[in-house]
Amino acid sequence: MDFLYVSLENLVGVNVINILDYSLEELKSWMSENGEKEFRAKQVFDWIYKEVFVFDNMNNIPKGIKEKLNAAFYVGIPELIKVYNSIDSHTKKFLFKYNDGSIIECVEMEYDYGNSICVSTQVGCKMGCKFCASTIGGMLRNLTSGEILAQIIKVQNIVKKRISNVVLMGSGEPLDNYDNVIKFLEISNAEYGLNIGQRHITLSTCGIVPKIYELAELKLQITLAISLHAPTDNERKEIMPIANKYSIKELMDACNYYIEKTGKRITFEYALVKDVNDNEKNANELGRLVKNLLCHVNIIPVNNVTENNFQKPSNKRLDDFSNILNSFGINNTVRKEMGSDINAACGQLRKSYINSLEEGC
Ligand code: SAH
Repeated sequence: MDFLYVSLENLVGVNVINILDYSLEELKSWMSENGEKEFRAKQVFDWIYKEVFVFDNMNNIPKGIKEKLNAAFYVGIPELIKVYNSIDSHTKKFLFKYNDGSIIECVEMEYDYGNSICVSTQVGCKMGCKFCASTIGGMLRNLTSGEILAQIIKVQNIVKKRISNVVLMGSGEPLDNYDNVIKFLEISNAEYGLNIGQRHITLSTCGIVPKIYELAELKLQITLAISLHAPTDNERKEIMPIANKYSIKELMDACNYYIEKTGKRITFEYALVKDVNDNEKNANELGRLVKNLLCHVNIIPVNNVTENNFQKPSNKRLDDFSNILNSFGINNTVRKEMGSDINAACGQLRKSYINSLEEGC
């Protein structure tokens, strides 16, 4: 009877932990608490980060430890539901399912300088930005650090290439899932983990001001990207509810503090929407707002989302906008579009997949 109880418990996953949620220090402590030598922790992670996901296949781990590992942990690699290849052949979009059924998406992009991945940090998003598909169904839950890491591990495993750059720009608001995201940054950067340099990681936020201050204290070398999208409070409130909570002045003060603490240049993202935030006045206001900041402005032609009516501006509008920023001496680029044929904008793919399931019911 006891035996049946234990095996059932394992089957349903009660008390079984995703080992990817553990740092090396935590796994070392677990080893010693369980009467094993701490160095076993590093051996286990060596296997996992070399894509051996089954404890029983870890050759240098004694049988007794394997049994303990099997009883306590699982390796939380999500299931691949679908992969979409862009016709540009440099972009792939993946739909993954975690073991509770949550579906998320991530995008892999191949550049001359290396392979980059855009990861999700939450299932859905609660920030409510008007142009963004991720937020349409609200937020279901936070992803754990291990679940975010697993997106990279799984993509590397599928494409058989090393991922060297990470952007936290998939579904979700990273600073609304602060502790898990910080732990994710730590393990993806660690030598025992994915060994991705902090300078190759970009965290994008809609601007949760207190968390920007908290992040600044860590003095990380990651790039902070701020989704600004409008140069005045009134216009920003029209498209981003977070602007009701924090003014642009408060946001800029936090950015200044971040720059002072880290010495790092900030990126401002500005999704250009036809007839909403793309006129000369907007460009001049943006120029005046950021001209004294150590920053770069990323102008992104808005990606059309079925559920809203936002349209991309013409190429001329994009160039004019960029030229006005140039006249202020502001470093800026117009983002090259990749993968728009496969719904590569934030949250679009997950949304269209869930819609198709609902239509099929
Ligand atoms: N929540 C974070 C990160 C996720 S979104 C943030 O707000 O920054 C990543 C970026 O994609 C953000 O700048 C977001 O505003 C932008 N984005 C979302 N939907 C978009 C769309 N339809 N077209 C262009 N950019 C979009």
